[in-house]
Amino acid sequence: MRDRLYIGGEWRPPVKGGKIPVFNPYSEQVIHHVAAGTPEDVDLAVAAAKAAFPAWRQTSGSVRGMFLKAIAAKVRARKDELARLSSLNNGKPLAEALIDMQDVASSFDYYGELAADLDRERDCTVEVPDSAYRATMRREPLGVAGLIVPWNFPLVTTSWKVAPALAAGCTVVLKPSEVTPIVELELGAIADEVGLPRGVLNLVTGLGPDVGAPLTTHKDVAKVSFTGSNGVGSRVMAAASQGPKAVSLELGGKSPIVVFADADLDIATNCVVNGIFFNAGQMCSATSRLLVEESIAPRLIERVIAAAKALKPGDPLSSATTLGPLTSKAQYDKVLSYIARGKAEGLSLLLGGGRPEGLETGWFIAPTLFGDVPVSSPLWREEIFGPVLCMRTFASEAEAIELANDSDFGLVATVVTRDREKSERVADAIEAGLVWINSPQVIFVETSWGGFKASGIGRELGPWGLDAYLEVKHKARRLMPAA
Ligand code: NAD
Repeated sequence: MRDRLYIGGEWRPPVKGGKIPVFNPYSEQVIHHVAAGTPEDVDLAVAAAKAAFPAWRQTSGSVRGMFLKAIAAKVRARKDELARLSSLNNGKPLAEALIDMQDVASSFDYYGELAADLDRERDCTVEVPDSAYRATMRREPLGVAGLIVPWNFPLVTTSWKVAPALAAGCTVVLKPSEVTPIVELELGAIADEVGLPRGVLNLVTGLGPDVGAPLTTHKDVAKVSFTGSNGVGSRVMAAASQGPKAVSLELGGKSPIVVFADADLDIATNCVVNGIFFNAGQMCSATSRLLVEESIAPRLIERVIAAAKALKPGDPLSSATTLGPLTSKAQYDKVLSYIARGKAEGLSLLLGGGRPEGLETGWFIAPTLFGDVPVSSPLWREEIFGPVLCMRTFASEAEAIELANDSDFGLVATVVTRDREKSERVADAIEAGLVWINSPQVIFVETSWGGFKASGIGRELGPWGLDAYLEVKHKARRLMPAA
């Protein structure tokens, strides 16, 4: 496990020498310390990224793509070890961490292809109404990108930013979450192994105010891409307005899953359970509001409870475990406080509501279900970010849509019905960046990711994710007679 900062291709101690403890959420023990970066380290990292930018932007897209594919190959080759580090520090079951590493490799491969495509697609001409002019549009990298990520999908969220940024020709300063820095630091080692030019990728671990905040105000950072909470996201946007800098925000959610009476109940159960208990519910895309048509509510709830009870909490590194602990003590306390609030409000507790039985240590919370939750309850309106599902019934399609959209957030939604036309109507009416229809939460790197309303600004993944690191230069040439 690494404990230094990766700046300009070297592993350096932090300028002020501070350290941050890193925990294993299963043992609740400190397992490591990483460097506590400060604004001085951010200055060094940004300077390294700035120095590397002119050469990196001139490097052809196909060569940049080769580096990205080499990173993907290294991630695949080390997937077991990386997944183990991720599981150890984040608490997610090893099988889930292995899926994460496949996603990471896919991101780097995909943007490796798009980087190569940029060689052909960088310029395009636009027909203008005056034949004396020729207009050319060129896509150019923005410059140094400051990338700030959370702790729930370590290295995945990172790859959704680092891969397109490098593909576009930007250089990067990455700030991992202080909660899960261990596996993120391995990206520096991989960059080294594939011979990525020095300064193209820099990693500074540390606390948000000490490392994240200075990145958002640094004069030499052209782009800030942030994934995290709405509170910090607002601060990031306000800080970046001083540049101003280009900003992408991937924020929270309180997403609905709408199950109609004609749904296949096996599919519905699978979508509900995976949508809230995968990664112990610590997903921005968690479908934490269940809307179920009245006539099937008792049957669906019975199945959801049975499936949730079948989840096996335990050691994340054991292959038998399907529910890990929450990643941090702070998150554990926060989720428990929402559960206590639900109980105090007199909500109908249908399942869970505390620690699972038989586990003495670890920040575990049992799958929890509240029924008939009023729309005014904070449990219905606020992002809990844990294995807590809130349920309500609806009587008509119109009511389902109204309830689904009655939220400040708009990240994702799921619709379960056998009626194709109804599913299209409802998906079109729901205000969300992604709507799954009869599907668990499948994400393809070729498609878009991002939220409506308070869930964010901009899109990651797909070609939209690359555009987030490019800007357009228009060259307008007045045609001259040949000399
Ligand atoms: P957080 O906002 O507390 O922290 C995110 C990152 O920002 C961390 O690296 C943190 O150190 C840093 N940070 C803290 N203060 C900062 C500041 N003043 N300036 C700049 N950076 C600062 O979020 P979290 O608890 O790590 O993650 C959970 C949140 O992330 C949830 O709200 C979740 O919905 C959201 N999330 C969103 C997506 C998405 O794609 N929309 C994906 C994953 C997580």
